[in-house]
Amino acid sequence: MTKLDCSVINCTYNSDNSCKRNDIKVEGNEAHMASETNCSSFAPKGCGCGASNMSECAKKDTDVSCSATSCIYNEAKKCSANHIGIAGTDAGNSSDTLCRSFVCQ
Ligand code: SF4
Repeated sequence: MTKLDCSVINCTYNSDNSCKRNDIKVEGNEAHMASETNCSSFAPKGCGCGASNMSECAKKDTDVSCSATSCIYNEAKKCSANHIGIAGTDAGNSSDTLCRSFVCQ
């Protein structure tokens, strides 16, 4: 479980620069830099997306699945970092987001 800061303020799950989802999925097959990753759990505000994976409190640990196996924090497609940051100000879709904590092995 990972502490998650998120600056994607136009995502429906974002609250006070944190994420209200209980789990997220980061994509980054064959990524060699942070810009080649993205948060596939992004959903634009106003999409009416379900609340089933949401918590009342955004300031909590989050289960992060991740396909960026070239990252030093990736362990069997789970993120092992204590704290990560997801970025993407003005994101319109998931490809506009990235994991800025990605470190290539
Ligand atoms: S820090 Fe690395 S393993 Fe963790 S979510 Fe970001 S890219 Fe994936």
